[in-house]
Amino acid sequence: MVKNEEWYFDQKGKRFDGRGQFEQRPINLKVGVIDRADGSAYVEWGQNKAVAAVYGPREMLPKHMANPNKATIRYFYRMAPFSVPDRKNPKPGRREIEISKVSGEALSRAAELEQFPNTAIDVFVTILDANAGTRITALLAASLALADAGIPMKDLVSGTSVGKAGGKLISDLSKHEEDAPDAVDLPIAMLPNSDEVVLMQMDGPLTEKEFNEILEVARKSCKEIKDMQVKVLKERFKDDFNGD
Ligand code: UDP
Repeated sequence: MVKNEEWYFDQKGKRFDGRGQFEQRPINLKVGVIDRADGSAYVEWGQNKAVAAVYGPREMLPKHMANPNKATIRYFYRMAPFSVPDRKNPKPGRREIEISKVSGEALSRAAELEQFPNTAIDVFVTILDANAGTRITALLAASLALADAGIPMKDLVSGTSVGKAGGKLISDLSKHEEDAPDAVDLPIAMLPNSDEVVLMQMDGPLTEKEFNEILEVARKSCKEIKDMQVKVLKERFKDDFNGD
């Protein structure tokens, strides 16, 4: 892969790593990777690697934090110290705390939490290797792990990052593209059945036309990724699907 070069597209319009404008990096999903957990998943998205473990629903402690109307999702996004070029301090930083907050809120839109009042559902996601897009990689893993834990869900959370680099709209930005002088990074997560957006962040300017165009690209990608998520879950629970 070409690194540290200030170009983003070749003459044929291919990106620096050979991808097309709206081509995602390869995605691999696995469910049921941690026996100790109630549900777990592992996701590779290009170089990104995330492992998620779900514990619960279980008693909320401290008790005064319990919600009598529904379960509370506590989401812990963490980057392993060895996952990035400059050692990551293992102490959770502001970035990890912010990502945990917005991702937990996104998952809470998908899970039927009213069925488990007063309980906690703890979702731990560790990034083992990172190259931009890790919050979405983590969220895919967390969503699969929740389903693997048997938590009823109205939909899976699917997501992608879209944006801009080198003057063009692109999807699934790599670190090289996120660092472009004109980069716009727009991680987005959806419930693909209803098109409900459950996470959206944006760190640069887009025109309304660009925004609408790239949103449509993201919507399509989310549906494709959701199909992959469903496939891997069906495989995991194939005996329960009666061949359906
Ligand atoms: N990154 C890093 N060190 C850090 C945090 C992030 O090297 O402490 C890198 C990592 O490759 C990450 C990328 O910067 O994927 C982009 O980070 P961002 O905050 O945009 O989140 P992400 O795109 O991973 O969701």
